[in-house]
Amino acid sequence: MMSRPAHALIDLSALQHNLSVVRQHAPQARIMAVIKANAYGHGFLQAAKALNEAGGFALLELDAALQLRQAGFKQTILLLEGFFTEAEIALFDQHQLTAVIHHSSQIDMLNQATFKHLDVFVKMNTGMNRLGFQPDEFHAAMNTLRSNKNIQNITLMTHFASAGDVEGEQQFNQQLDCFNSITEKYQLPRSLANSAAILNYPTTHENWVRPGIMLYGGSPLENKTAEELGLRPVMTVSSKIIAIQNINRGDRVGYSGCYQTDKPRQIGIVAFGYADGYPRHAPTGTPVLVNGQTSHIVGRISMDMLAVDVTEVENAKVGSPVILWGEGLPVDVIADQAETISYELLCGITARVARSIQS
Ligand SMILES: *Cc1c(COP(=O)(O)O)cnc(C)c1O
Repeated sequence: MMSRPAHALIDLSALQHNLSVVRQHAPQARIMAVIKANAYGHGFLQAAKALNEAGGFALLELDAALQLRQAGFKQTILLLEGFFTEAEIALFDQHQLTAVIHHSSQIDMLNQATFKHLDVFVKMNTGMNRLGFQPDEFHAAMNTLRSNKNIQNITLMTHFASAGDVEGEQQFNQQLDCFNSITEKYQLPRSLANSAAILNYPTTHENWVRPGIMLYGGSPLENKTAEELGLRPVMTVSSKIIAIQNINRGDRVGYSGCYQTDKPRQIGIVAFGYADGYPRHAPTGTPVLVNGQTSHIVGRISMDMLAVDVTEVENAKVGSPVILWGEGLPVDVIADQAETISYELLCGITARVARSIQS
């Protein structure tokens, strides 16, 4: 049986290469590889295996964390949103999972629960205003946690909102100053840096860095490409041309007839649509590779298909290979075109897309 050609290839050697780039930038720090959201869509178990040299893994799905332990991973496993109910604390205890403590409701649960040993990362909200204790609540939270003898290792943590933005330096500095001034009195390990801060701000590396997107070969920086950063794409998304339409001047392509040609053209229909995870908002002109040659999208992305202009592509025919992003076509380019970020595209490849691993 010839199966539908929509496909995602995961290159584990690229993942390992990108880990080595993290290590070059932050040689003194321990690496907490962020594998949330199924390793940004790459498959968390196989990603963890490839990243086995990392000192820890961060994610927020408890079932995936338990699967990591079951698979024999001994590293620190950090749950980025901590526990959600008191009952989960027993699982953290039993499987030595480390919890981010970011809110007083979690401290209340800890005071109710019985457990023997829990390591925590205590998160401060330094200005992102998502998770974390406000600076003026931080000491009280620390005092309560430190008075609980079953809470063992405490690491101090915050998260930056704009470490990769060209105009983000002012907010970054405010966040860093806030964190340092409040935490100065504690002789405890620290974790601040996401991918962008790893690359832009070496003073934030401290004890644990938390790279996500750069491991997967996306650029975390507004003003540098992944290639310029020495990062390799891990996921290559591809399919094939399954039909060719020869159209004349004035003809239209796709839903609502949004695209109309000014001359005769050859259109290739590719078996990949928004139900596979291609962004529906990618406009006419978004690049694709057909037979390794640059071509582009025309008209609306459908649920199951998209159309490309192959007029200038040599030897384009049914069966010609098409790369949507990955090797030779950075995911960041497609994300820009669709007015989103690489993270969303990588996480968005759906279950019906066949996957395979290259190591
Ligand atoms: C997702 C996440 C990261 C990784 O961020 P990248 O930009 O992908 O490097 C680090 N820390 C926290 C708290 C996160 O939620």
